[in-house]
Amino acid sequence: MSAKLQTPIDYLKGVGPNRADLLRKELGIHTYQDLINLFPNRYIDRTKYYKINQLQRNNADVQVIGKIIAFKEVAQKRGKRLVATFQDDTGTMELVWFRGQKWIRDNLKLNKPYVIYGKTNWFSGKFNMPHPDIEALEAHRENLRSAMQPVYPSTEKLSNRGVTNRVINKIMQQLFLETGGRFTETLSENLLTELKLIPKREALFNVHFPKSQELLSKAQFRLKFEELFYIQLQLIIKNLVHKSKIKGFPFEKVGTNFNTFFKEHLPFELTDAQKRVLKEIRADLGSNAQMNRLLQGDVGSGKTIVALMSMLIALDNGFQACLMAPTEILSVQHYNGLLEHCNKLNIRIGKLTGSTKTSERKIIHESLENGDLQILIGTHALLEDKVKFKNLGLAIIDEQHRFGVAQRSKLWRKGSPQSSQREDAKSVRQNNGAHTPPHILVMTATPIPRTLAMSVYGDLDISVIDELPPGRQSIKTVHRYDKNRLNVFKFIRDEITKGRQVYIVYPLIQENEKMDYKDLMDGYESISRDFPLPDYQISIVHGKMKPADKDYEMQRFIKGETQIMVATTVIEVGVNVPNASVMIIESAERFGLSQLHQLRGRVGRGAEQSYCILMTSHKLSNDSKTRLETMVRTSDGFEIAEVDLRLRGPGDIMGTQQSGVLNLKIADIIKDNDILQLARHHAKNVLKNDSTLTSIENKVILDTYKSLGKYKNIWNYIS
Ligand code: ADP
Ligand code: MG
Repeated sequence: MSAKLQTPIDYLKGVGPNRADLLRKELGIHTYQDLINLFPNRYIDRTKYYKINQLQRNNADVQVIGKIIAFKEVAQKRGKRLVATFQDDTGTMELVWFRGQKWIRDNLKLNKPYVIYGKTNWFSGKFNMPHPDIEALEAHRENLRSAMQPVYPSTEKLSNRGVTNRVINKIMQQLFLETGGRFTETLSENLLTELKLIPKREALFNVHFPKSQELLSKAQFRLKFEELFYIQLQLIIKNLVHKSKIKGFPFEKVGTNFNTFFKEHLPFELTDAQKRVLKEIRADLGSNAQMNRLLQGDVGSGKTIVALMSMLIALDNGFQACLMAPTEILSVQHYNGLLEHCNKLNIRIGKLTGSTKTSERKIIHESLENGDLQILIGTHALLEDKVKFKNLGLAIIDEQHRFGVAQRSKLWRKGSPQSSQREDAKSVRQNNGAHTPPHILVMTATPIPRTLAMSVYGDLDISVIDELPPGRQSIKTVHRYDKNRLNVFKFIRDEITKGRQVYIVYPLIQENEKMDYKDLMDGYESISRDFPLPDYQISIVHGKMKPADKDYEMQRFIKGETQIMVATTVIEVGVNVPNASVMIIESAERFGLSQLHQLRGRVGRGAEQSYCILMTSHKLSNDSKTRLETMVRTSDGFEIAEVDLRLRGPGDIMGTQQSGVLNLKIADIIKDNDILQLARHHAKNVLKNDSTLTSIENKVILDTYKSLGKYKNIWNYIS
């Protein structure tokens, strides 16, 4: 793009220091270029005018021409509101202001034609429009440039300080005037021709000042494609670089441990999906490149056994392996589960968590370093600098959504004692020398929608277990209001009589911790009253307990000594008690969808019909309703993830903010899935034919790619 676009926004006519400051702080707009890339959220049709007698109660935003015939001030609880009577030849309505009343009184004239625009409310027999967008009819006629008027992202501060949509529109016009709208092309001729894309400058113009619906669609398509294309290009390059430059330990053989386990100790037949995934992992481990694989599999799909068998391959090749889980409970459970198998195979396995005693810790550290210990299971205690392996060949991270990218790279550096503590980029270059990172397998049960996974983890290879072990019955899920509690308790009693066990889970949200604990303890008390000793035994587990106590309570439940487990979300992840067949979630409206799904996954692990009961109060927000309905309707983790993504927006999901991928300016990761696939296809294609982007044809792509500052580091790897 032309040099002019790097000009600070202060220099644009009509901006000035105050507005520049606001634009920087509120919208991150520093330069002309940033402003150009501020894309409208939506467009409104300003060719249509309503008469007052045509207004309907469910209208979206409407536009009306009329006159103000009177002002009045109405006292209210705090301060007063200003109300104007607005009239056209069919009737009257009211305009209402709660703020900025002085400005309105000073600037709006009675009996002068205005155009108002906004949302209407129906209130005591009349329509009113609070804080209308208002403009003199004359000015309105002059300004109207296009039928589709862009609506730009805004913030409360911006509109309070007078930087309205109209102002943004004006300065956008100014920008096009000053630059002459001559923006350099950023895609190659080939792509433009093949995909029939409109040129960059035409696209930019039409996205801000659409000449027609058709041109607007073309402009949006072109800009979305471009945005997704460069992201995919970046991810694919990262992946290619990785594969070519980052050597891994080649695990050439599958040996005694694996084979003995497979032939003699495998407790069940693997599902086809498990077999396929194991094959993919074996292929990775056997190649010369370092494995970086994401294993997605819904709760209960059987990821643990895949993890174990992958670790056995590492051991067969003379390497150590480790498995990291996000909570103490889960680590302990993994350890206990795997210990059984390891004992049969004479494999030395250890456990390291926050509550491991110093004396034990020392022994573990030593036996890790001298290679006595072959498998280590634990929490993020594994990441401490003191934990050094003799030859870590495979690191597995369970339930990745609890860990960030930073942890992944920390594990990565635990490959060998000489390993560098420096950044990845440096390690990469050292790869020719001493440092070989371990293979990494990341397992997650929070199924990220495939589209998102592809764009966020484009640098990881992805395996999916898309099949549950046979014989699982689907979990019956219902939504019940608090007033049905007695029925729910009766149901619990019946299930316990049949020999089943029950979870009752309370929310624990950080901001509200005190109240939540109170809810939990109150709940526990009332449950103890309804399910009294000695007929009923109840466990309670929450985050404030000492790990040893937690473990004790957990074990009682696992052994079936207690029938009810009252808990906070500490049990969300991974806990496996097949005899537990009822999951009661209290205040279910306060949980996120993926959490609900995780919690439900704690039941339905045995042969019995399982149930999940979502308890809520009567008052529910629309989002809560959608979440509950989704849970009742489906148990497909991917479908649930899609809904979740739609409700929360991508930024929230599993720390994906870090990826940068989701600071999308124009594309929408869900709605524009087709364009994403297309962009990925073409990015691959371009690189397949010209992996260093050195051909003349691709110069424009290379230049653009390089100018995307944040990707420069990656570029360094290649050139
Ligand atoms: P997750 O993927 O949620 O970690 P787990 O690995 O904990 O699931 O497996 C859930 C349960 O299913 C465990 O009790 C496990 O032993 C069992 N399981 C796993 N694979 C199979 C299979 N192929 N056939 C039967 N049961 C299986
Ligand atoms: Mg698991």
